[in-house]
Amino acid sequence: MPSGQNVVLPEAMMANQTPLFPWRLMSGGGGFGIRRKCLPQLELGSNGGRANAWFESMKASSPTHANAAAALASSPSVADQDEHPTWMVRHPSALSSFGEIIRASKRKQIVMFLDYDGTLSPIVDDPDRAFISDAMRDAVRDVARNFPTAIVSGRCRDKVYNFVRLAELYYAGSHGMDIKVPAKGPSFIRANAKPVLFQPASKFLPMIEEVYKSLIEATKSIPGAKVENNKFCLSVHFRCVDEKRWSALADLVKSMLKEYPKLKLTLGRKVLEIRPLIKWDKGKALEFLLESLGFADSSDVFPIYIGDDRTDEDAFKVLRDRGQGFGILVSKIPKETNASYSLHDPSEASLVERRRLSLESYPNL
Ligand SMILES: [Mg+2]
Repeated sequence: MPSGQNVVLPEAMMANQTPLFPWRLMSGGGGFGIRRKCLPQLELGSNGGRANAWFESMKASSPTHANAAAALASSPSVADQDEHPTWMVRHPSALSSFGEIIRASKRKQIVMFLDYDGTLSPIVDDPDRAFISDAMRDAVRDVARNFPTAIVSGRCRDKVYNFVRLAELYYAGSHGMDIKVPAKGPSFIRANAKPVLFQPASKFLPMIEEVYKSLIEATKSIPGAKVENNKFCLSVHFRCVDEKRWSALADLVKSMLKEYPKLKLTLGRKVLEIRPLIKWDKGKALEFLLESLGFADSSDVFPIYIGDDRTDEDAFKVLRDRGQGFGILVSKIPKETNASYSLHDPSEASLVERRRLSLESYPNL
């Protein structure tokens, strides 16, 4: 694996001194079938292709743990069995590639970027209860002691902060449209770093609030649907909606947004996302944060981004295009990604594994 590219790992994050999220290795014949489907870029306003395109994409982007287990239990197609090793060659486990990653980052400033849902916390039925474990919080705290560390989430910034509760981190909420520097001043921030509160979509606030209220009313007809106000964007969670109603829910949301051409609808893991139609995403947020830290044109920075969702692909792509650092995809199922390494599942992280994977395990580094 060449250095300076994105990486996909099963569980883990690593830091110079301790791997952040040491996860179980994906290798070893797990039998995952590659998800070859490259999800269509579904956005309101496009013709959308087939009438059920949204439904199919909602299914494809929402593999439940149960579904994944069923997929593993069933016999994967010959093609999948043939392709799995190839996928793992292209996106090796970040855990097994730990030494390689550390070597690539040598003499460079690591900057950590972490998605929240599905990366630091499990995907649960109630998004308000997507709590981070104490062990994971400790791991993030350890990493933040050594490197500038940012949480980049589609959630409202305040809500993510209330989950994580680490004042020393950067927080980028609303898919990076709401960025705030840490309350504490980490010593590794360069002298030319600027304190910032960056909200590029502030003028959309009244519109977002209006759509939020309308969606709350409209989705009452769809049991299990949950609308979340993320300040500069909205989430319509369908993780608790009967699959038979997914098409109806997507149609409802699309229909409502026809009156708001300045908003766009995209798809995440078990969630429909409504965002301002501006050129801003997690990739832009990553670039903005690097600039704020004083690393805009630096060649000695090594950004690492860990995420599990389609919205994280924008950040993975930025790293790949910059040729700096790497992206790590957290996924139980191999799939198309711009990340370079992979991790399996954040829930497997443990302090014991973290200690086991400390640098003492890599005497030759
Ligand atoms: Mg996520």
